Amino acid sequence: MSKQGAITRVRLLIDGCFVDSTSEQWRDVVNPATQEILARVPFATEAELNAAVASAREAFKSWRKTPIGARARIFLKYQQLIREHLKELAAILTAEQGKTLADAEGDVLRGLEVVEHAAGIGNLQLGELANNVAAGVDTYTLLQPLGVCAGITPFNFPAMIPLWMFPMAITTGNTFVLKPSEQDPMVSMRLAELALEAGVPPGVLNVIHGGAEVVDLLCDHPDIKAISFVGSTRVGTHVYQRASQAGKRVQCMMGAKNHAVVLPDAHQEQTLANLAGAAFGAAGQRCMAVSVAILVGEARAWLPELVEKAKTLKVGAGSEPGTDVGPLISCAALDRVGGLIERGVREGARLELDGRNPAVAGYAQGNFVGPTIFSGVTADMSIYREEIFGPVLCVMRAETLDEAIAIVNANPHGNGTALFTRSGAAARHFQEEIDVGQVGINVPIPVPVPIFSFTGSRASKLGDLGPYGKQIVQFYTQTKTVTQRWFDEGEVGGPVNTTITLK
Ligand code: NAD
Repeated sequence: MSKQGAITRVRLLIDGCFVDSTSEQWRDVVNPATQEILARVPFATEAELNAAVASAREAFKSWRKTPIGARARIFLKYQQLIREHLKELAAILTAEQGKTLADAEGDVLRGLEVVEHAAGIGNLQLGELANNVAAGVDTYTLLQPLGVCAGITPFNFPAMIPLWMFPMAITTGNTFVLKPSEQDPMVSMRLAELALEAGVPPGVLNVIHGGAEVVDLLCDHPDIKAISFVGSTRVGTHVYQRASQAGKRVQCMMGAKNHAVVLPDAHQEQTLANLAGAAFGAAGQRCMAVSVAILVGEARAWLPELVEKAKTLKVGAGSEPGTDVGPLISCAALDRVGGLIERGVREGARLELDGRNPAVAGYAQGNFVGPTIFSGVTADMSIYREEIFGPVLCVMRAETLDEAIAIVNANPHGNGTALFTRSGAAARHFQEEIDVGQVGINVPIPVPVPIFSFTGSRASKLGDLGPYGKQIVQFYTQTKTVTQRWFDEGEVGGPVNTTITLK
């Protein structure tokens, strides 16, 4: 960060130095609970982006040869630094993103788990060997880094999602250019500072800021070999197509509509508490938020209690103790969510709980929407078809588990789903028949820990391999197969005396 007058300016990280952008185009980073301008962020120029990529390309030459143990030790140090700065990181995150301090700590901690995973790279970046595949012949694989990789991240997890990306890219031997969300770039910058402090060498991690133009330049840049994207389906589809056209390896984690299916034998109290937390926590701005609940059979009678539970959640600034639901990220998001609630009413859904315009003492300017519940929702309604990305839960009904499964499978998205039941047989049937990449059984937000990979599916994802876990090692490396034969000196007739010049 640098100061110009009273205004803090977010810097770029290029070749190990935090520099002021020369851009003429800037936008405000705004506290969504107060509308206070926290900083200004630049839309980097093409020359700045090119400098970041050139630095990453140069750094790759030596970084790819850095021993795996040396790379791992940097991330061991990094996890320690993140842990030491947890409260500071969470406070920055809450100020610029709005979520509660507890959620902000969770955001950092989920990212930290990936850093810990990256520190174990010695056990992850391993090839295979088959001995004697033919007489005297062995075949083995090398997992080699690709070169310069880039990451484009969304606003909703401004610590966790950058940490999904650059630690694993770097620890596998690549160099990286990160493009955080322009809506909340400050915590990403603090994480970049700590990465340098941990020992990430100049050029190995670069950060540039901007919006659509910078993203397009990243997609087109001939020296970038792979792109990781997390964000909306509209932008992710564009990034996937454009970067694939340019010959890059691309993975895009995108939008969602996550259903929770509730069977009448479920533990009622726990299920309702889980539903409320997963639908309204983080103001519904989670790609794994439960946005649809399907109440099966007798469970339909639980709706009034669900509404009562939702009413107990406290709406307020994320920095205030006791807040459950913070503000939406921007005034535009507030208008959009309000508009969708209005459409839900117009299209015939029953508004059981209206969270619009909540009174939040001391924060009259905040982008607040309280928990909102619609019942009688059908698959043709806008509130069902669109990702609302706000604290709005659509409640549907089904007579049987198979009817509920059919509803979920007919939805194009496949990010996450959950079943609440006490029946093992029902759970197993659900796990087998449901066409969604991440399944929770009595777990409302089934995001896998980093020893597994994030496995959203269908319209929620483009590209085969997911973030973190084993899959990301494959994504960030090229498998090279070596098949080799060595002759016994007796076989080829005596020693060779020639000296070979390698370079
Ligand atoms: P977004 O798609 O608007 O922005 C994501 C990134 O793309 C940002 O860095 C932004 O600067 C850039 N961008 C925006 N418009 C662009 C354009 N026209 N061309 C090129 N780049 C552009 O997403 P968001 O609003 O920041 O984040 C919310 C979305 O992210 C939701 O849809 C949510 O479901 C999704 N998400 C998905 C996952 C997942 O793992 N599947 C995780 C978190 C968020």
